[in-house]
Amino acid sequence: MSQHHQIIIIGAGFAGLGLAIQLKKAGIHDFVVLEREAGVGGTWWVNRYPGAACDVQSHLYSLSFAPKADWSRQFAPRREIQAHLEEMVTAFDLAPHLELNTEITKARWDEHTKQWQVTDSQGRTRNSQLLVGALGGLARPAWPDIAGLDTFGGRIIHSQQWPDDLDLTDQRVGVIGTGASAVQFVPHLAKVTRSLHVFQRTPNWILPKPDRPIGPIQQLLYRVFPPARHLTRLGLFLLLETRLPAFTRWPALSALHRRKALKHLERQVDDPALIKALTPRYAMGCKRVLMSNDYYPTFNLPHVELIDRAITQVTPTAIVDQSGEAHPVDVIVLGTGFQATSPIPEGLIVGKDELDLGRLWAGGPKAYKGTAVHGFPNFFMLLGPNTALGHNSVLLMIEGQIRYIVQALKQMRKHHWQEIEITDKAQRDWNDQLDQTLSHSVWNAGGCQSWYLHPISGRNTTLWPHTTVRFKRLTKHFDHAVYACK
Ligand code: NAP
Repeated sequence: MSQHHQIIIIGAGFAGLGLAIQLKKAGIHDFVVLEREAGVGGTWWVNRYPGAACDVQSHLYSLSFAPKADWSRQFAPRREIQAHLEEMVTAFDLAPHLELNTEITKARWDEHTKQWQVTDSQGRTRNSQLLVGALGGLARPAWPDIAGLDTFGGRIIHSQQWPDDLDLTDQRVGVIGTGASAVQFVPHLAKVTRSLHVFQRTPNWILPKPDRPIGPIQQLLYRVFPPARHLTRLGLFLLLETRLPAFTRWPALSALHRRKALKHLERQVDDPALIKALTPRYAMGCKRVLMSNDYYPTFNLPHVELIDRAITQVTPTAIVDQSGEAHPVDVIVLGTGFQATSPIPEGLIVGKDELDLGRLWAGGPKAYKGTAVHGFPNFFMLLGPNTALGHNSVLLMIEGQIRYIVQALKQMRKHHWQEIEITDKAQRDWNDQLDQTLSHSVWNAGGCQSWYLHPISGRNTTLWPHTTVRFKRLTKHFDHAVYACK
């Protein structure tokens, strides 16, 4: 017997839980949140590598309708964000709607019943009128295609699948990748390992991290006098929002930050050859701009080596670089990121006429407002294509999408629509405009390769190139005129 719900949400991270809160507020209680992991938190539940923290300021890295007054630091560590997500479950009484350890293997649109049929890994099925994918844009780890990696005799750990019991004390460790995750865990690994070889393909722009504790008096002020917290949030929001023009129109605007980053590097690293190897040769912002106070100094340590030559192969005991040198290692840590341009695996979501979303998006994901997809009636996504940000807190985008979905539900109820589907034309127009705006951006034309761009088509399928204010305006109302509603 399959269970029926009005809404099924897949994923219990910020997006899924945020939608659950707003559904309850709207008086909609017939929904379930299905989560593959044993706990809520999404990205903050799974990414447990040492040093994991947020690179967006805490007071902007929370949902406006589920705030937290007592963040302990300007940039919160993973554990605190995770605890906050768990507190959200308690504060909004979401537990009755949650089903953990429930991995969805297929969600299929049934044309006859106008329902989604959702099957989990234990063969249980559930039906719903509406399906929401809150799966996260950076949830599928990317494993590098390196010859011989599968022959390695030691452990290989991806940063997103960090075992709680991993002890790297006195081990010889090779790190592949130097992105946002690696700059956080590399300094921590250096503290315990016997040797650390960091394999860098492309250096990143790294700014100092203006992190500091938020003291008890300030926390108290935020708790007893919420306008103080609102003002702080507004200030952070404006600070980050004004970074956008440097990425989309006038790269010259980042000159000051470029100088700051280079000074930071020169101040923190002793060896001129190392400074040269760590200096990026592409426009700032083309890849995500990183922040760290302890990454660069790690390379001054005698047991840490930066290798900026390409990896040619992995043997059972070593990583071999382009010069032919073999670097013996006991453990390989992959900081190689995520399959951001293929967020949905094939066979997971199947819409009208057996359309497979994963296959449809093989050439690059496309949606309408990052939320609806033609061919997939009564289906919405949170953090779908082109909703990630290079300049501000992604939670602002999630909030816009949540509002839009709740509006859609209310309209469906009011007009007794059984089925809504975005039209092909609206979706095409939306993407054409995005492509046009993105083509001049630093992300597309800044002279680098990044996870923002689809590896085959070269399209930027991940980033939103306008202000978050604009996205908020565009998602304020459900624009049913561009949907086929029956
Ligand atoms: P990433 O930024 O995509 O970095 C992947 C790294 O692996 C890059 O240095 C890449 O080199 C390297 N790489 C990939 N394949 C390789 C290969 N075959 N050989 C050698 N090197 C290889 O991944 P990430 O660091 O996990 O971060 C991904 C995103 O997650 C970030 O941009 C950010 O949005 C998010 N994140 C956020 C936080 C936070 O604080 N909020 C923390 C961590 C991650 P190339 O640069 O040459 O491609």
